[in-house]
Amino acid sequence: MLSNFRFMLNPTGNYFYQLIDPDICFDWDTIEKVLVSSSEVEACSICLYPPVAGRVTRCGHVFCLPCILHYLESSEKSWQKCPVCCDSICEKDIKPIKITAGHSIKEGDLINLVLVQRVHQSTLAFPISETWPLPENVVSNYIKPDISFIPWSSTPFAQSFARFMLASPDYLLSEYDRDCKELEEALLNATDRESAEEIRFIKKSKDRVDEERKRAESQKTEEIMLALSTLDIMFEAIVKYNKKHKNKQHPQKQDDNNCLRKLGEKENNKKHQQHDSLTDFYFYQKDDGQHVYLDPLDIRILKHEFGKYDQFPHCLQAQVDLKDIVSSTTLQAFSSELNARSKRREAKEKQIESMRKQQPTCAEGGVIPDINHQLNNREEQLTQSKLS
Ligand SMILES: [Zn+2]
Ligand SMILES: [Zn+2]
Repeated sequence: MLSNFRFMLNPTGNYFYQLIDPDICFDWDTIEKVLVSSSEVEACSICLYPPVAGRVTRCGHVFCLPCILHYLESSEKSWQKCPVCCDSICEKDIKPIKITAGHSIKEGDLINLVLVQRVHQSTLAFPISETWPLPENVVSNYIKPDISFIPWSSTPFAQSFARFMLASPDYLLSEYDRDCKELEEALLNATDRESAEEIRFIKKSKDRVDEERKRAESQKTEEIMLALSTLDIMFEAIVKYNKKHKNKQHPQKQDDNNCLRKLGEKENNKKHQQHDSLTDFYFYQKDDGQHVYLDPLDIRILKHEFGKYDQFPHCLQAQVDLKDIVSSTTLQAFSSELNARSKRREAKEKQIESMRKQQPTCAEGGVIPDINHQLNNREEQLTQSKLS
């Protein structure tokens, strides 16, 4: 559960080790906000409705702020057992959570995938775009050489793709505003229902949000505001630099046909080719940052066609016919594996079909969670990319 969370952290902390090693955890006290996709979490574990001023516990369970405060108060101790997993919960440890839009993927959906580049010896991975990879000569004007670049909540793509980022105080304040609106709406409903108990905990929640707001306000120090404005200026300079040096290599925004045609054009930019170092890492991920990745066999076919990862199309659709992108010679080279995959898919579809017949109520309108016939999980894909 926690592995699907992404974190906005207190900007005064040092996260150098977490930047290079994804297995190093964050100190819970440094977390300002947790981000998770709605495909992972949809409801409060107590009232089962979409969370009002959502909060998350250390054990990773999500609740409305009024629901969890109500629940915590039912204990005489300073802590209470989590109603889901029985871990201990303390009021001071509950953190704001943002549930970002994420769609569950159904069989047959067309999925846009973007080419993501992960930098050598870093957990930083973003879609190749106007702002990524960062040109070192531009960045060195804004960041001291001995300091690592850590994205902020306002860094392009950070909120969808970064495992962690620094929380800008203004962003946190806007999120507390959202909490307040949700609580006000809940208060109106509770007043209509004349539910005194509910009203009490909604008011208690508003007090807590006010305290959290004050804390975010106090983080607007001169140093942090300067760092944020420097970041904005740096990204403007990066966009300008990349426009000048990369000659329209970013077809993501174009319509599909145009996009696919452009994708087939190989790039000749020598400068850009230098980025295909053996140490950087490339993979295709769903364009909204959900954990959906391209099948390893497709990666190998593209590698055969384009030679280097940084020559890969910057965007793809999961059901796209590779014939539009790669040559018949490349398809021929993979024909036996492609046939084997088709057979596996057919077998899997038959299996799913027979399961549907056996359990009509479960499958009706339901999501098929395993779409392995198109997309494999991240680990498998990454392993495959290492091998190819
Ligand atoms: Zn609730
Ligand atoms: Zn729990």
